[in-house]
Amino acid sequence: MKIFKVGDTQKVMCESCQSLETATFGLRDVPFSDGHGLVKNVLVGVCDKCDRVAVIPQQSVPAIKKQLDARKKPIESRVPAHMVDILNLASSSLGASTDFSAALIKYFIHTIYENEKTADSLLKYLDSDLAEGKAQKRISLKGRLVLDELKTIRVRAHLTSNTDVLKAVVLKINDDVLVNPKAQLINELKSVAATYA
Ligand SMILES: [Zn+2]
Repeated sequence: MKIFKVGDTQKVMCESCQSLETATFGLRDVPFSDGHGLVKNVLVGVCDKCDRVAVIPQQSVPAIKKQLDARKKPIESRVPAHMVDILNLASSSLGASTDFSAALIKYFIHTIYENEKTADSLLKYLDSDLAEGKAQKRISLKGRLVLDELKTIRVRAHLTSNTDVLKAVVLKINDDVLVNPKAQLINELKSVAATYA
């Protein structure tokens, strides 16, 4: 992939001019394709003739995607307070700050998703004493991938709510990280956790 710098130029087919023009790359605010709001400060190729955006290079796609994702609502689940404590404890035992909690949940959801058979094993956690308690705190998750995976796991495990899946995942984290830690898993998690220290 060619990486463009601010000030680089390229011949492009400009849709507005309907002709081959020179575009100069620079930082611009670009409207979202749905017309609501602007993607701020991304590198785009601007037509030298009509001053409109003529090309969005591949290198700008992740930054645009990030701003798009930021507009999406997270899913929020209300859970008993001790579930949030478990996530905080697990994060800290891995050497990370509590900011790691969401990434930790995502990691587990992804692992459970990857292995179809593990969905059923979540059910036993919902029967445990730790699954009980008044829902007084909140877990919020963002990201299209994790939401799709969560939904798939919910269907596979025959659960009716995302909250039940999340509760079971938190209790699995308790089991795998705090109660019966497995060396290989812990090592893997610690190297990810280091970026949240
Ligand atoms: Zn043009």
